[in-house]
Formats: sequence, structure tokens, C-alpha cells
Amino acid sequence: MVSHPAEIQSRLERILPSIQKPGRYTGGELNQIVKDWEAVQTRIALIFPDLYDLGMSNLGLAILYDILNQRQDVLAERAYTPWTDMEAALRAAGLPLYSLESKHPLSGFDILAFSLPYETLYTNTLNTLDLAGIPLFSAERTSQHPLVIAGGHATYNPEPMHAFIDAFVIGEGEEVILDIVDAHQAWAHSGASRRTLLESLARIWGVYVPSLYEAHYNLDDTFSHLEKLVESAPYPIVKRIVPKLPPPPTNLIVPYIDTVHNRIPIEIMRGCTRGCRFCHAGMITRPVRERSVEEVVTAIEDALKHTGYEEVGLLSLSSSDYTYILELVKAVSTKFSGKHLSISLPSLRIESFSVDLMDALQDSRRSGFTLAPEAATERMREIINKPVSTQQLLETARAIYSRGWSNLKLYFMIGHPSETLEDVQAIADLCKAVLAEGRKLIGKRAQVTAGVSTFIPKPHTPFQWVPCDTIDQILAKQAILKDRLRGPGLKLNWNRPEDTMLEAWLSRGDRRMAEVVYQAWKRGAKFDAWSDHFRYDAWQDGFQSVGLDPAFYTHRERPIDETFPWEHISTSVRKKFLTEDYLWSLQGRTRIDCRERCFACGILPTFAELRRQNPGEVWQCPEVKSKRLPVRDLIPVDQVIAGD
Ligand code: SF4
Repeated sequence: MVSHPAEIQSRLERILPSIQKPGRYTGGELNQIVKDWEAVQTRIALIFPDLYDLGMSNLGLAILYDILNQRQDVLAERAYTPWTDMEAALRAAGLPLYSLESKHPLSGFDILAFSLPYETLYTNTLNTLDLAGIPLFSAERTSQHPLVIAGGHATYNPEPMHAFIDAFVIGEGEEVILDIVDAHQAWAHSGASRRTLLESLARIWGVYVPSLYEAHYNLDDTFSHLEKLVESAPYPIVKRIVPKLPPPPTNLIVPYIDTVHNRIPIEIMRGCTRGCRFCHAGMITRPVRERSVEEVVTAIEDALKHTGYEEVGLLSLSSSDYTYILELVKAVSTKFSGKHLSISLPSLRIESFSVDLMDALQDSRRSGFTLAPEAATERMREIINKPVSTQQLLETARAIYSRGWSNLKLYFMIGHPSETLEDVQAIADLCKAVLAEGRKLIGKRAQVTAGVSTFIPKPHTPFQWVPCDTIDQILAKQAILKDRLRGPGLKLNWNRPEDTMLEAWLSRGDRRMAEVVYQAWKRGAKFDAWSDHFRYDAWQDGFQSVGLDPAFYTHRERPIDETFPWEHISTSVRKKFLTEDYLWSLQGRTRIDCRERCFACGILPTFAELRRQNPGEVWQCPEVKSKRLPVRDLIPVDQVIAGD
């Protein structure tokens, strides 16, 4: 295989004219960073295992690119999975997958860091490694191969990918990535074995090295426990967090081609205190930490100077819960008024205050306004802990239409625990009621678009015990919606049940799923998140070849005392809290926003010392008075290697 960057570049020039959107594969964009390859100690490829068009909007990788490249001794470059036409051209030309900045083959990097925000990227991860000429299985890699790491929300259940990834980052990457670089540098100078590197990584807070553990199962095929193979391997593996969000990246790379979000992403807050029981992100990203208004406004100003973008996204899981949201919106409107800057505030709560906020953003677009009731009956909303009344929803809808928005997008899920067909039917009724309010105010211009996805009981949530709907159940519920939710001004979008099944298998799987992932990939599965490429047959054949029943992972109600295959990963939200919350849901009991009352979910004892060291208003959990030890002390990296 060709391995010299100049040769790769020259062959690319011959290939690219016949490829769709060559701008995906050239690099050279405004603000990319190209360092002297020979002048650094560690070279990291940051990889999003899907198209460039999607990966360029991944905030996590933009943050790591910024942080890593600030270090003189490190270079970070980017790579994405090529679309099928480019993959065929690369394979035909004997070219390996390369980084966009320097065109070095991925196999020449020290570390390959994959971003796995969702599970349908797993086969693409294998395909990317294959295109790079790197053994897919961690056990087959030697010291000559790059270290393969992965992080992102999907890795809170890393087991279905345990065979392919050398080390997972559990939690937030900003600090841990630098510890990993330090450990790698210390190892590279030591001449020690690859196993030594893996054992040293396992001692870093927030790093999980699956090869240091063995999984055991019960006779009924349920998961029994994970056995440590090395005494120093941690158990549980506690997620890493940063006590204060570091400054947001503002020197963002500006693509030449259209990407999913052509905007400046500024994270205003991390974590959520609402406690929606289906929400994976809300449970795993606790505690809430906020940025100051001043920091956000300065970041927008800097990013505008560096990029020339015309849109800013003020990102968080629940923007209207940001403590200083009104102040922020006023400050942004005043500072950038007349600059034709469009500001988006995604994830707003269902209340008139949210409409006031959008209204205050002078240049905000008036075409679509999005709300996510998630369920259409008050009973169902209490079960999922999103207790908003139908009355409140209709009032908010009226406020939206009367302030100039014509299309209201409403997000729902079907398949919630204890859902009946009446609850599904109620989605159509509610959409029609909202449309009727709009028609009264703005006539036929009023529209409602209902986006209906299917609930998946995700790990680490209070619903992790419940089964997922079967394909037949989903189809029956979708048929009700397709029948009832139609007519002028109404639009319905839904997911294919097969897509839901795949996400459910992968998010709830154990180690045995890794072989299914491999077999599905061998049978042609890739780009699973793309409907026109998704090969359900390849997955079914994959299950069959391994002798596993897919329904075992998705359609079984788990007893309350079942041990989950992801229990060694600690989000710091205690299982006892999740169990109690699940039992509360069965009784229709709700929890209020935990900023108003702390429910002792487990975050505070784990991060007591971090919280104590960072007093003030950044954290939204209560102050910790007494000194308590954190679950794991962070071990300085020099001691990590020295301790071998
Ligand atoms: S410790 Fe209390 S305030 Fe903090 S996230 Fe948990 S329940 Fe909420």
C-alpha cells in the first residue's frame, strides 16, 4: 500500500475528479492546522466514522482538535469515513485512508481517536480501520500499530465494541485526552510492551481498557459479572468530568462544502437537571455546569472574526434552563444587532418564556419552532417525567403562532413503558388541536410537523429495565398515526422500525455483540445510519452466524435485580437512584427539577472533592460542606508509568 503523503496526494489528484463532492477529501480549509510532522512527539488522528459532511459538525472533535493542537509536542489531524464511491476508488488505487491535513496514512499516527456519539457508527469504525490497513481486532495489534481509542455518548456501554477498541474514554474528553498523550509519550520512550501501555492507560481516571477484564455469563445467557484480569485495573470505571468547562473553540475550521450545520457551535451549559427518564444524555452528563454570559458573548465575537459564519447555535440539552438565559439573549441581541447573525436556541422547554426568548433574538428565523412534548397524554408525560400539562402546551403553541412562526415542529416518541394505543392516538389528536389553535391565529399558514421516533430503553437510565417494542408493535402504532395524522397543514415524519432495532441491539448489547458487529460488517453492513445503505439482512445474518437471538437484547423485561453488561461503567448516578426512579414511574410519580431539590442521585459523593475545589455558580448541584474523598483519585501520569 502507498504510504508516502506526497504519493497519496499525487494519486488523489487523479482520483478526485470522478468522485462526488471532492471537497470532502481534500482538507486545506480555512483554520485547519498543519504542523511539522517531524517536530512533534505525538501524532493523533481524530476520526469521525461517517461522512465529512456530518463529522465537521461534531463539537467534541472540534474541542479536541483545538486542545491538542495547543500543545507544541502534539499534532492533531482529521479523518472521516469516505463515501462508497471514494472507498471503491481508494481500494482500487491501493491507497490507504489518510488524514486531511498532511495526507499521512492513518497507520502512521501514534493514536487514532474515534468519536462514537451513537451506535450506528460501529460498522463504519471497522470499515475505517480496514481502509487504514490496521487490524480490526485489538488483540491482533502490536506496538507497531497506532493505539486505537474511542469516546462519546455511545461508549457508556462499550461492550459491543470491546474487541476493536484498545481503550475507551468514559466521560468528558478535554483533560483525559492530555493524560492519554502523556502516558503514550512516557511509554514510547520506555520501550515497554503494548500491554504495559494499556495497563498504564487503565490507571487514568475515565479510561476503560476492555482487554484487562473477562466477561462471565449465567446459564440462562444473562450477564453475570466482569472479572479483572489485572489487579490494578479499576472497578468500576468512573466517568471523567471537567469541573469547569474550558473555553469553547473559536478558531473553527470552515468547510468549503455544505455540511450539516454551517454555524458556530457554542456550548452554554453541560448536563441537565430535568430528569426525563428516557433521556440517556440527561443521565450521563450530570452535573450541570454553566459558562458565564461574558464568556459566551466573547466566544461568539471571536468565532465570528475567525470564521465569517452567519449563524450561532447556543447549545445545551435544555437551553431555557441555563440560569442566565434572559441576560444572555439580551446581551447577544444588543451586541450583534444589525449584523445579520442568526442565533439558534435548540432544546427549549414548553412554556411561553421560551417563546419570549426566541422573540428577543431579533434576527431569529420565523419559519419553524420546535418543541418536544415526547408524549401526548398527561399520564404518559408523568411516566416519562416530562410533566407539562396539555393546557400549557396549547398556550405555548398560541404564543408561537401569534409571534410570527408558522410551522410548529412537535417531537414525540412511541413505545414508552406502559403506552397504550390510546396514548398513540392522542399524538394525532394533540397535533390537530395545536393546528386548530394556529389556524385561529394565522389561518391556513399554520402548520404542524410531527416527528415521531421510537423509544429505546437506554443503559444508565431509569428505563433500562423495560423492553423495547417489537417491529410489529411499532408498525401497528405507526399505522394509527399515518391514518389519523393527515390533512392540510399536518405532516408526519417517522423512523423505520428496523433502524430502531439496530440501535437498541447495539446500545443494550454485551461483549458477545462484538462478533455480531464484525459478522454484519463482513456481510456488507456500513453507513447503518443512512436509510438507503442500512442492510438489515446483514445484521440478521450476523446474529444467526453467531447463534444469538436479537430479541434477547431488546424485547425482554429485565428483573429489577438483573446485572447489566454495562454496570462496570459508572456515570456516578447510583443504580439505587435509577431503580427508585423506575419504580416511581410505574406509580406515575414525578420529580421536579433537581436544582430546586437535590434527589441525591449519586453525583455529589463521587465528585465531592472536585465540587469543593470549585465553589461558586458554575455547578448547579448543591455546595458540599464536608470534605469527602472522591471515588478515585486522579493518578499523575508520571506515576502511572513509574508504577509499572
Ligand atoms: S446531585 Fe442532586 S442536584 Fe446534582 S444532579 Fe444529582 S440530584 Fe441533581
